[in-house]
Amino acid sequence: MQLDRVSLDLRSGTAWVQGGATLGQTYYAISQASNVRGFATGSCPTVGVGGHISGGGFGFLSRKYRLAADNVVDAFLVDAQGRILDRESMGEEVFWAIRGGGGGIWGIIYAWKIRLLEVPKTVTSFVVSRPGSKSVVSRLVHKWQFVAPKLVDDFYLSVSIRSAAVASRGIGEMNAQFNGFYLACMTHLNGGFIKGDRTKHTTSKLFYIHELQKNGDINMQQIRSSDNVADLFTKSPPIATFKRMVHKIGMQMLKDVLIRGS
Ligand SMILES: Cc1cc2nc3c(=O)[nH]c(=O)nc-3n(C[C@H](O)[C@H](O)[C@H](O)COP(=O)(O)OP(=O)(O)OC[C@H]3O[C@@H](n4cnc5c(N)ncnc54)[C@H](O)[C@@H]3O)c2cc1C
Repeated sequence: MQLDRVSLDLRSGTAWVQGGATLGQTYYAISQASNVRGFATGSCPTVGVGGHISGGGFGFLSRKYRLAADNVVDAFLVDAQGRILDRESMGEEVFWAIRGGGGGIWGIIYAWKIRLLEVPKTVTSFVVSRPGSKSVVSRLVHKWQFVAPKLVDDFYLSVSIRSAAVASRGIGEMNAQFNGFYLACMTHLNGGFIKGDRTKHTTSKLFYIHELQKNGDINMQQIRSSDNVADLFTKSPPIATFKRMVHKIGMQMLKDVLIRGS
């Protein structure tokens, strides 16, 4: 018995997730049932909901929907006396404690009842790596600290910093990897991506791209992941996709060109 079942009820917009399920299993079950529902947890699929939600649980949707624990509406808890308690029988104090107070402290979470969250059919995600010297990376991170909190709530932007030794594509001493996630197609950001009331006390040069977009000086276009030819140079796509992309950018083997030419 793995206690990893995820049972969804789309009508009430909730799901019971057993304490042994991983985030990956939870996301998968939700995605199989609906393409406009999601949940605000972390991005690592192997993490378990037992410890994750007990400690809060922060992820791509958290700027908009807060923590995973904030979206728990009920739970079954087995306490030290072996009693099985739901929200009503454990009381609001204990229910508050189990949502953020840490795993393995208040009892065993048999299952969480979570609120499913609204997500659009199309979202935008990106990963950008910027390797460089310590000063280059620290300048970027300094800038990120001002920009990230001022983005609209639908837009999540995190950065992780690694030494080049562990960074996958390190050129230079360090690497800053930016993970972005936007709850819509990027082209829908007509009004710009910075919240108007959040820019006070912040130098305007940090919002240069935002201003360009807002004024219509640059034109953002949607490129579906399957059509992103840039992936050819940064990822290892399946052979069929690789060939399609090679064809799309017009790349040819020199020997084929020479044979045709002669
Ligand atoms: C690769 C990786 C990526 C991560 N990414 C994120 C992220 O994006 N966002 C974020 O917020 N956190 C993230 N974390 C942190 C993660 O949420 C915590 O480490 C969490 O405690 C993991 O829970 P677990 O059940 O997988 O681990 P475990 O080590 O099994 O459990 C952690 C604690 O919770 C207890 N516990 C587990 N299950 C239950 C249960 N059913 N009832 C009661 N107690 C239980 C355990 O006894 C233990 O004390 C990440 C961790 C890793 C390893």
